[in-house]
Amino acid sequence: MSEVLVLVDEIDGEVKKVTFELLTAAREIGEPAAVVVAAPGTAAKVKESLAAYGAAKVYVAESDDVATYLVTPKVDVLANLVGAKSPAAVLIPATAEGKEIAGRLAVRTGSGLLIEAIGVESSGDDVVGVQSIFGGAFTVKAKSTRGTPVVTVRPGGVEAVQAQGAAAEETVEVPAVDAAKATTVTGREPVVGGDRPELTEASIVVSGGRGVGSAEKFEVVEQLADALGAAVGASRAAVDSGYYPAQFQVGQTGKTVSPQLYVALGISGAIQHRAGMQTSKTIVAVNKDAEAPIFEIADFGVVGDLFAVAPQLTGEVTKRK
Ligand code: FAD
Repeated sequence: MSEVLVLVDEIDGEVKKVTFELLTAAREIGEPAAVVVAAPGTAAKVKESLAAYGAAKVYVAESDDVATYLVTPKVDVLANLVGAKSPAAVLIPATAEGKEIAGRLAVRTGSGLLIEAIGVESSGDDVVGVQSIFGGAFTVKAKSTRGTPVVTVRPGGVEAVQAQGAAAEETVEVPAVDAAKATTVTGREPVVGGDRPELTEASIVVSGGRGVGSAEKFEVVEQLADALGAAVGASRAAVDSGYYPAQFQVGQTGKTVSPQLYVALGISGAIQHRAGMQTSKTIVAVNKDAEAPIFEIADFGVVGDLFAVAPQLTGEVTKRK
């Protein structure tokens, strides 16, 4: 069975959920091999959790350079592994960093790039990426016609399922980076958002739209999110109106989320918003307009004023805790 390389997404030795989703997807098409490109000592911290999601192998590429340079060390390591191991595919999280790595890797290795997959399948000798397109109106299957397919997989697109893997370690070199050609990290700022889960990792997301009306009133969205242990999201109209910071925007030009539960408060459900959330497992919408398009994809809808409905919901959830 061919290896499928999975780029591990971790921060300070804590593996992000999307990595487990990618390892699960990789098992559909071959033998998952996790690739840890990180600061020295990271692999020891993450190995057990990678094994728990089926990593047969763990390629360990550790170097201080990884923290110094943005994506270059990861692209270099993956490109060398593609050359040396001829994997069936390379799976990379469709995060901001992952997308940049994937694009560069595909160019470097002369490979086809499949983006924003919500699953992968085998078809004969080919790897097929399953993609949700046109704001989720269609699901298509695509394959690359050259090289080792590089596939970015949407966080939340695949449900992570545990399976014990051997996680056999193999150390690989991180090539020396040419500083003149690489982007250097000058500082890292923690994302504002307090103790809430990261938007793309959260199993529940509560988002507010233009219907929330102001930055101050976004408190109603945050209170429900905190009662549910959820991340807060926002529509572009809410972001453009200055109600909530841009890093929380959900949609075509924002983040893609696929939580177990997505609650939309005062969001009309424009196609560009839906593109970022419609693969959520359960969608709940509160909108005072019964004709709002969000109700077309909602599993549960409440036609009403969000300022009447959301606080009641927050109260009920808090009571049951
Ligand atoms: P509106 O469409 O104005 O809807 C507000 C809703 O709130 C209405 O349905 C109204 O009935 C309801 N409402 C008002 N008051 C209340 C109340 N008190 N209680 C309950 N309901 C209430 N949008 C995104 O979200 N994400 C993107 O990434 C994105 N990318 C885009 C990219 C491009 C190229 C373009 C052209 C557009 C993009 N958009 C994106 C914008 C998108 O087309 C919509 O304009 C936007 O999603 C609308 O946001 P909204 O639903 O919050 O606002």
